[in-house]
Amino acid sequence: MANVKVIVAGYKGRMGSTAAQMVIDNADFDLVGVYDARSKDQNLGEDARFSGQDVPAFHDLTAIKTDATVWIDFTIPTAVYENAKFALNNGISPVIGTTGMTDEQVADLQKLAKAKQVGGLIAPNFGISAVLLMQFAQQAAKYFPDAEIIEMHHDDKIDSPSGTAISTARKIAEVRKPKQQGNPDATETLPGARGAEYEGMRIHAVRLPGLVAHEEVMFGGPGEGLTIRQDSFDRISFMTGVKVAVGKINQYHELMIGLENLL
Ligand code: NAP
Repeated sequence: MANVKVIVAGYKGRMGSTAAQMVIDNADFDLVGVYDARSKDQNLGEDARFSGQDVPAFHDLTAIKTDATVWIDFTIPTAVYENAKFALNNGISPVIGTTGMTDEQVADLQKLAKAKQVGGLIAPNFGISAVLLMQFAQQAAKYFPDAEIIEMHHDDKIDSPSGTAISTARKIAEVRKPKQQGNPDATETLPGARGAEYEGMRIHAVRLPGLVAHEEVMFGGPGEGLTIRQDSFDRISFMTGVKVAVGKINQYHELMIGLENLL
């Protein structure tokens, strides 16, 4: 079978550079382009981390000419929607790790993918431990409808709460009866003390240097509690999922949400 031709958007960043390296190292994939809106490189080899690589680098969406069939996106919340639209309009399957898109933007992209019959994936988390955490949390919520989500990330992260935390809350909300948690008369001495609210559930976002990506879901019931936790200690942990997605995504004709759809 022919190798999968891949373009990586956001290759200057932490995740994008890790993804570009993963594609280079994979015998079944060819890196045929990289894109980063604020980069000045004409070629990936100009970036010291990739010296010796001969791959065209782009910094303007409209200037991209490529025969890639997969677009890996690890950019920023304000760029990912236009990037994904560009990919779908050009018949390239987006594999999106960038978080922070609105529900409307995701719905728009799903419509476009259907119209163009192009497959794609938006994965709020490519880590297997995070995907399992979301599944386990959904299972636990059937018995423990009271939950609080604590997500912890490095302090450069732009959006909060994390896409994984929102997905976890959505999965819990799917299986429990609508519920407002806590004391209805509760007040906050300091605004924000109880975290963000999602369908009656609270989500807390921790930002600290040294962290990568971590999440805990705490459940409480009469006289007992359950805590589920996952840790991504290194960005390499996300690449197992990205690899799976890149290898399979061209077989699909719709834009899916969540790595579990491909596992
Ligand atoms: P980062 O280091 O800030 O990288 C983002 C890169 O995108 C930067 O090089 C940025 O350039 C570039 N960029 C900005 N605008 C762009 C545009 N219009 N087109 C292309 N590139 C553009 O961030 P990161 O830590 O790698 O994270 C990237 C995204 O991945 C975040 O949304 C994060 O939440 C998400 N993430 C997802 C997973 C997952 O498993 N799904 C895991 C970890 C992180 P400038 O620096 O010049 O702006």
